[in-house]
Amino acid sequence: MIDGFGRRITYVRMSVTDRCDLRCRYCMAEKMTFLPRKDVLSLEEIVELADIFIARGVNRIRLTGGEPLVRKGVDQLIPALGERVGRGLDELTMTTNGTQLERYAPMLSNAGIRRINVSLDSRDPERFRHITRRGDLTQVLRGIDAACAAGLKVKINMVALRGLNEDEIAPMLRWCSSRGHDLTLIETMPLGEVEEDRTEHYLPLSGVREQLEREFDLIPSLERTGGPARYYEVGEVRLGFITPLTNNFCEGCNRVRVAATGTVFGCLGHDQKVELRDVLRSGGAEAVNHALDELLAGKPKGHQFQIEAPRPAVGRHMSVTGG
Ligand code: SAM
Repeated sequence: MIDGFGRRITYVRMSVTDRCDLRCRYCMAEKMTFLPRKDVLSLEEIVELADIFIARGVNRIRLTGGEPLVRKGVDQLIPALGERVGRGLDELTMTTNGTQLERYAPMLSNAGIRRINVSLDSRDPERFRHITRRGDLTQVLRGIDAACAAGLKVKINMVALRGLNEDEIAPMLRWCSSRGHDLTLIETMPLGEVEEDRTEHYLPLSGVREQLEREFDLIPSLERTGGPARYYEVGEVRLGFITPLTNNFCEGCNRVRVAATGTVFGCLGHDQKVELRDVLRSGGAEAVNHALDELLAGKPKGHQFQIEAPRPAVGRHMSVTGG
């Protein structure tokens, strides 16, 4: 799959549900309305769609959401997708909030998943509950331990939030280093209405990096993943900065995003999309391929997020697009 700017699309992020058991303040509204069941792709349809992408050269799929591990039947879906690893797929990965990992880590490992990203914005129980509006930190930490015990490599994702967790960034890096976890810091992106003013907690990572450089040796890494992250080696672990606001690295973009409804978005920061659910249900693989060609031809060159803009860049939340 090659888009109108000559970029090869080899990576798909698939949201398997828009539902989540947490309500992170920067991500969701407290009272979210979730999609009715019938609007969401069935487990079989998710696999069918994955096969179409794989046949077109996609070699990496990341499952996300909402919270992927709260999707009913996820313990059937992941092994089914795992069968594609080594048969077209180089890697199946997942981004999770970790609440269900204690239960599911062995299943993920048995299905051929080797690496997962776990979102963890604070290691202080009270703050964690505040940011997630309900989360139990110990449950997530037990989940991370279970993932490690199952042999999964865990990377921690932390959204940097002014006034909420900025003083925990250096301690988080030390904690990650001591446990061998890579850490990626993320700027808050203006996606969907969340009741709060995001500008209040927006923390540009350029300043965070300068501060960390005073305490740690940050050695720039040449690695690129086609995403908006830049990496540094810090001792044995890698530190990533996802800076969609202060920097924009869309020229190397290699991805599209599938929402739980089967809507495929060409860019996180634009509304450009094709709806594949009904196409898949009525027209099968050929019709899906036509729709994908249309998506690729119109995939935006890049996004332009502005945190101070009066309205979010796009109306949909990260949980819809699949963060
Ligand atoms: N529930 C899973 C999790 O928590 O990792 C997967 C979905 S979640 C939407 C994926 C990632 O997006 C999380 O690391 C979350 O912190 C991040 N995220 C959500 N909304 C965001 C926003 N507006 N700006 C930046 N990151 C956001």
